[in-house]
Formats: sequence, C-alpha cells, structure tokens
Amino acid sequence: MSQTSWKDQIKRKWGPHSHCTICGKAMPTDKKFCSQACRDNYLGRERKQKKKGRIQCVFLIVMLVVMMLMLFIPSLL
Ligand SMILES: [Zn+2]
Repeated sequence: MSQTSWKDQIKRKWGPHSHCTICGKAMPTDKKFCSQACRDNYLGRERKQKKKGRIQCVFLIVMLVVMMLMLFIPSLL
C-alpha cells in the first residue's frame, strides 16, 4: 500500500489552498470566498440567519411570559 493519501496528492497538484465556503471551489488560502458573488451570498445568508435567531428569541420570551401568566393567573383569582 502506498502511504501517500489523497490529501497529499491534492496538495502536490494544487499547492496549498482552501475551499470557498459557498460553492466549494478551490482558491488561495488567504481568501475566504472565491468571488464577490459568493461573498454577497454568504453575507446575505448570515443576515437572514441573524433575523431568524431574533425571531426565535422573541418567540421564546413570549412563550415564557404566557407560561408565567398561566401559572400566576389561577392564584390571583
Ligand atoms: Zn465560491
């Protein structure tokens, strides 16, 4: 069995590189995205995720308030 792994083979063929977070294309290691389009894509996705997180947070707080009310209202009556 040869000791060279597929990773070594790729390294020898392409040199040190990383992959684009969005499309997975090979690119220089100092970059995070292969193109402006992928960058925009990532930023847009991140923004959407943040919005989703905020909605979930609000929903959780509302649920908590409703549960508190349900616990406290019977004792007030
Ligand atoms: Zn890309």
